[in-house]
Amino acid sequence: MSKFLLIVMTVLFAALASPSLAFAGGPGVIVIDPGHGGEDTGAIGPNGAEEKNVVLSLALMVAEILNERLSSTVLLTRTGDVFIPLEERTAFANRNGADLFVSIHVNAALNREASGVETFFLSFDATDDDARRVAAFENRIVKTAEDRVDGDDIQVILLDLASTEAHHESSRLAEDVHLSVLEHSGRENRGVKQAPFTVLVGATMPAVLVEAGFISNPEEERLLSSRKEQARIAEAIADGIMGFAGAKTPGKDVTSIGKRTRKN
Ligand SMILES: [Zn+2]
Repeated sequence: MSKFLLIVMTVLFAALASPSLAFAGGPGVIVIDPGHGGEDTGAIGPNGAEEKNVVLSLALMVAEILNERLSSTVLLTRTGDVFIPLEERTAFANRNGADLFVSIHVNAALNREASGVETFFLSFDATDDDARRVAAFENRIVKTAEDRVDGDDIQVILLDLASTEAHHESSRLAEDVHLSVLEHSGRENRGVKQAPFTVLVGATMPAVLVEAGFISNPEEERLLSSRKEQARIAEAIADGIMGFAGAKTPGKDVTSIGKRTRKN
């Protein structure tokens, strides 16, 4: 059986088996995915900061915070500087019965002025040209893989995926994480968007990808490289996840933040 058929069957099975994704007692398993790693550096900033290192540091902090505050099992797709194919990351989440999947990245653009935060969930149709560009950049590592899922396959999968509860919940998770990061960082709101990210294809749980800033912007590169700023962003991502999971930090109401700052 082809890998593609396996993915479609997994998605269909998830749709039938999981009519509701409500978390009684909090999510059991959360997978945090630091993007890139090993030979895949991800984006490189004008002063040499590498995306793979920034996002690993962020992901380790997010996992530590969630471990402290939730009873959930928190798993990382990588804890060191190793290469992991995109498909393997989602497969890892599926295999471990994850209830949530959050992939952490930082953005890059030719325009060094570009800045801000954007958060994605899966769709074949990108929200706009910019969303399409980000997905193309993040997907490019698989272009030489033998058994990559190509565009047509993604479209077929999405016909099924669109009807699943997991997909609907992904948009809510994206919004919660996004608004929390905006609130903590005070950065420009680039919006919650949809795009065809390979790393999100086949996920049978709510799955999002957060671009926590622009490493191509010298000022944001400097901030993203600072442990203090990384801790702030990690706190924000963890808060967003907890908000989605119904384990809000006391005194914070993510829903009302959403009404105030939603731009999309
Ligand atoms: Zn990336």
